[in-house]
Amino acid sequence: MKKWLSLAMLPLMYGPSATLYMRRKTSHRITRKLHTTQTLYLTFDDGPHPYYTTKLLDLLKRYNAKATFFVVGTLAKKYPSIIERMHNEGHAIGIHHYTHQSAWLLTPHQLAEQIERTRQTIHEITGVHTHLYRPPWGHFNMATLAVAKHDDIVLWSHIFKDWKVQGNHLHLLKHPIADGSILLLHDNGDTKGADSSAPRCMLQALEPLLATATQQFLALPGEDHECY
Ligand SMILES: [Zn+2]
Repeated sequence: MKKWLSLAMLPLMYGPSATLYMRRKTSHRITRKLHTTQTLYLTFDDGPHPYYTTKLLDLLKRYNAKATFFVVGTLAKKYPSIIERMHNEGHAIGIHHYTHQSAWLLTPHQLAEQIERTRQTIHEITGVHTHLYRPPWGHFNMATLAVAKHDDIVLWSHIFKDWKVQGNHLHLLKHPIADGSILLLHDNGDTKGADSSAPRCMLQALEPLLATATQQFLALPGEDHECY
């Protein structure tokens, strides 16, 4: 009976418990905030999206703001010109799995494949090897630190539930935000559990922040550029 109980606990230990442990204990491997002055870091997950990401890039350009996009590999492959534009306009690009899957449901081998295929796709389009990695939903498994051992695992200091049209916390963008903060937003609402039109609300709320913040907006460091 005891043996069966411990076997039943394995999936819980492999995914959710590992996530709880890493998000609490191993902060030296996980970036949530940077020690910089007069700077904020905008990060956008789940794209690229043909409509919303393009609108977002236009908005960032208008305010000369740089950001970091954690992209889904299959979507990057589908919309390479948007990835190219992100790169050409000075934004950083990070990995958000090849398909938007939780690490809880991936073997170590599958997790490595999700990360490497996305890295390869970004490299094929931009020539850049990215080392920025944000796991979907911030989910880790027991193999994440080993599989992503050369990557900078980026979580966030501020989250706004902006994948929902109703009940999001985008109003918090109106309040002053501390230097070095990493803001998590979403430029695609087609992910499971999100509202497809939610990025419209995000864009509406983002513009006043770009217009009024006293800090500059920079991309996260973490890309190796090719040497020519
Ligand atoms: Zn995501």
